[in-house]
Amino acid sequence: VEVPEKQEIKGKNIPGIKNIIAIASGKGGVGKSTVASNLAISLKKLGFKVGLLDADIYGPSIPVMFDVENAKPTSKDHKMVPIESYGIQLLSLGFFSGANQAVVWRGAMASKAIHQLIHDADWGELDFLLIDLPPGTGDIHLSIVQEVPVTGSVIVSTPQHVALADVKKGVAMFQMPEINVPVLGIIENMAYFVPKELPENKYYIFGKKGAQKLAESLDLPLLGEIPIIQSIREASDYGRPAALQEDELIPNIYIEIAKKMI
Ligand code: ADP
Repeated sequence: VEVPEKQEIKGKNIPGIKNIIAIASGKGGVGKSTVASNLAISLKKLGFKVGLLDADIYGPSIPVMFDVENAKPTSKDHKMVPIESYGIQLLSLGFFSGANQAVVWRGAMASKAIHQLIHDADWGELDFLLIDLPPGTGDIHLSIVQEVPVTGSVIVSTPQHVALADVKKGVAMFQMPEINVPVLGIIENMAYFVPKELPENKYYIFGKKGAQKLAESLDLPLLGEIPIIQSIREASDYGRPAALQEDELIPNIYIEIAKKMI
């Protein structure tokens, strides 16, 4: 697959990686990691070579979502070798703390650890490296986006008012002149719920089309709306992202979003 070189010369270039996409959210718990893992699978299905870096210092959940909770990356020629699961190259801060061990990463330490996961790892050739950022906006985010040439960012939000307020801060951060990372768009997660017994009824549990309206007001694309679906949650807990399901209903939602990112 031909992928255009979009990487700008900013931060330290990572040889072999064509596009680095940061997946961000204003708040925690909106489904950022779930979206990141399903988009990674979808980009792979579209024929790309994909890596996923879990930089969520507060609760790295990618190892569980990819069923590699107890994996320990090895090193080769002084470089960390990512763990492969479902064809995705993975590194997570979670690989470096024991099971059930709470690790509180302090700012500088977290930045250093993330720096190593990005620069001291043998990612090989990748069309896309997705970075699952910690929620919110802060020093860690700034150091990541300054340190690596991030090609673009996507912001995940629920339609809820309080979540959306923080999305604006996220967008503002990426658009700061010294950061200047293009925001590819907003993804509305948990957009609505449709019960099986009442398929014609949509319930807007967290509010109606909030992210869509915000995207319009910020002049950004809405990359997609993902409903609340029980099997999306189950798939994440089970360690096999929902985008891998045989039934195409859920995979198609994520594929359509992935297509808008490429
Ligand atoms: P974040 O990374 O923003 O903290 P997670 O991806 O961990 O959020 O998601 C929070 C919880 O919501 C998880 O239990 C996840 O399985 C669930 N979840 C995320 N998106 C959906 C969805 N569209 N439908 C149902 N459950 C979801």
